[in-house]
Amino acid sequence: MAQRTRRIHVLLFILAALLMALGVDACYSERPVGLMDVVRPERSDALVIVKNPDDPAWHGRSGHAAMVLEKLIVMSREIGILHDGVLPVHLHVSASILDYGEAYRVLGRSFIVVGARRVRDGRVDGTLAHELAHLVTWGAHHESAWLGACTALLDEYYRREGVPPHERDMSNCFSR
Ligand SMILES: [Zn+2]
Repeated sequence: MAQRTRRIHVLLFILAALLMALGVDACYSERPVGLMDVVRPERSDALVIVKNPDDPAWHGRSGHAAMVLEKLIVMSREIGILHDGVLPVHLHVSASILDYGEAYRVLGRSFIVVGARRVRDGRVDGTLAHELAHLVTWGAHHESAWLGACTALLDEYYRREGVPPHERDMSNCFSR
């Protein structure tokens, strides 16, 4: 199965390279997840793969965002909500969505896109918990399975980070 998936990715990679050579990828390049992101070979032992860590939209904080996401992933494994196929998570930033995040599952790969303003303002933990909850409950949208995962993750994160109860902002689990 894994080998078949790899073969499909190799074929798609060649196809994408051909399409890029023809200039077809231009229409994807403005999107937070492009054609090449889906088919480019990936390191399967990583928890998080950051795209363009030096992109100015990261405001120099790509390392911080990746570290928070890694902590959340480890936690999701420990509380038993992580399952095979979610990892690695590709972490992207977008200057066009600014103030929220997005999660995608494309051809078996996981993507989280965070808005540049969230990153700049250091408000990335709630957004990452919200989006990781989508990846581990894919298809549940904002229904109870997702809500349970989001609140469990964020609760545990705050507890481990030593954030006092009255400072724990759970709003990301009650909004899109
Ligand atoms: Zn959502």
